[in-house]
Amino acid sequence: MPEKLHIQGAVMSHNAEMLHNSEGVPVYGLYIDGEWRPGRGEQHEPICDPATGDVLAQVTRGAVDDTRDAIEAARRAFDEGPWPNLCPGERSQILHRIVDAIEARQDELSDIEMRNAGSTWRKAFLMDIPVGVLHFRHFAKLADYEPLEPVPQITFPMRSYNFVQREPIGVCGQIIPWNFPFLMAVWKLAPALAAGNALVLKPASLTPLSALKLVEIIHETGLLPPGVLNLVTGPGAAIGHELATSPLVDKIAFTGSTEVGREVMRQAAGTVKKVTLELGGKSPSIVLDDADMDVTIDGCLWATFMHNGQACESGTRLFVPDVIYDSFMERLLDRARRIHVGLPADGETDLGPLISAAQLRRVEEYIRIGLAEGATPALLGSRPTDPQLAHGHFITPTIFTDVSNDMRIAQEEIFGPVLTVIKYDRVEEAIRMANDTIYGLAAGVWSSNIDRAVEVAKQIRAGTVWINDYHLINVEAPFGGYKQSGIGRELGIWGLHEYTEVKHVHAAMTSSRKDRFWYDILVPLGSGDGE
Ligand code: NAD
Ligand code: MN
Repeated sequence: MPEKLHIQGAVMSHNAEMLHNSEGVPVYGLYIDGEWRPGRGEQHEPICDPATGDVLAQVTRGAVDDTRDAIEAARRAFDEGPWPNLCPGERSQILHRIVDAIEARQDELSDIEMRNAGSTWRKAFLMDIPVGVLHFRHFAKLADYEPLEPVPQITFPMRSYNFVQREPIGVCGQIIPWNFPFLMAVWKLAPALAAGNALVLKPASLTPLSALKLVEIIHETGLLPPGVLNLVTGPGAAIGHELATSPLVDKIAFTGSTEVGREVMRQAAGTVKKVTLELGGKSPSIVLDDADMDVTIDGCLWATFMHNGQACESGTRLFVPDVIYDSFMERLLDRARRIHVGLPADGETDLGPLISAAQLRRVEEYIRIGLAEGATPALLGSRPTDPQLAHGHFITPTIFTDVSNDMRIAQEEIFGPVLTVIKYDRVEEAIRMANDTIYGLAAGVWSSNIDRAVEVAKQIRAGTVWINDYHLINVEAPFGGYKQSGIGRELGIWGLHEYTEVKHVHAAMTSSRKDRFWYDILVPLGSGDGE
């Protein structure tokens, strides 16, 4: 067992790694009430590198009783603790110091993200971790928000003193997916903490390692009161159910598939929890006939194939006008053929593995569906033959042409490196098809005429529209879905507000009973006392 030390009056074990097994593989505990503990069931699960199959760590398979412990710790931290009652400036200072500690460990976090999530070395070191740190920093800044909001002078039925104040919601259950494990953890922890909540985080079962490291770094700062931050690893259905149904949890924030999101919402209904959902997408990328070819072709590939299409906002339906179709497709395919699939640590690699064998089978199944639906495989993905890649979940990109928007490959989220290209004649027709989906997370519009592009952007039913760019999720702006892509927004002041309740306080200006609005309404009160 690791050494114990005292920080701010709490007994905490120092390290997330509870012990090492005989092969030197770290074994992680659960983080509950400010300390690392074994799960009550003493069960573990191996966590693997999707590129090699190597076992990277053993993680505790937490269960319902562990989740209850974590929820109770969070409840105490919120109800009794100093955290929700600190003034915003104090919380902001603490979070800034926490971000400093995270920033100092960026290389270690990037390496973990590369190994556990199949992110390429380039993406992990240049994007996943630095962007996550930037986003955490922004919420450290936003934590110093003004909880009082202006309210118009209220004169009905007579003047009164009024204020409106934002307060933390309470205990938040937070569930995240496997695709961007560090960023998704930051998007949950940072705003919840900034607003003064206590929380229980459940990372995705396949990719808990960067979230565990993040929590370990925060723990080592000793700056958060015990119970404010808790992490439970284990099966989503059991832990998720407990978080969504517990009467001690006030809010559930879920990022993942639309299918599971519906279930979380149903489960949360029993206790009428606040719910934010960031769900799936099938985002359109609409090329107009005046688009700049160079930026648009690379941009459309970036929109689709970044992280193998394993991003909720991926631009997986590409609408190309018939007047430029042939030349556009020829150049797009030429560029796509040069995308290099390889080991993530190799600096030459553009795309690493998919996250799991199941995800690889799912992508192959959708390729079969596309072929059966009559789409043309202009580029047909396959498992690479390089023996170095034999133990990972690798597949090369697929581009389907002759796709119609009602095909399953155009309607269902594949979450893999598969682009569907739909030819169109008139822009109105492209917009209609772009909106003909249950999703509404994001979209791209490509045009050298900004006025035209803005006109199209206004007509797209989606939470984010990028013009001549893609995947530029900005921490200052709201991100989230229309339709079945979700409820609520993350990031910016909108994201912070999702972790607050709004309170109106009304104070009468006079103590005279007969000045009261209700004096003549409730007769027995108003009569018989000589007034
Ligand atoms: P998933 O829905 O299978 O799992 C998401 C999380 O929920 C995981 O932690 C999982 O363990 C947990 N879970 C599983 N079953 C549960 C249940 N019954 N109750 C509660 N929790 C449960 O999704 P995934 O495969 O991890 O991630 C891919 C999906 O996430 C895609 O659909 C993608 O579009 C979506 N996604 C959305 C966003 C966004 O911001 N909109 C971001 C990333 C990913
Ligand atoms: Mn257990």
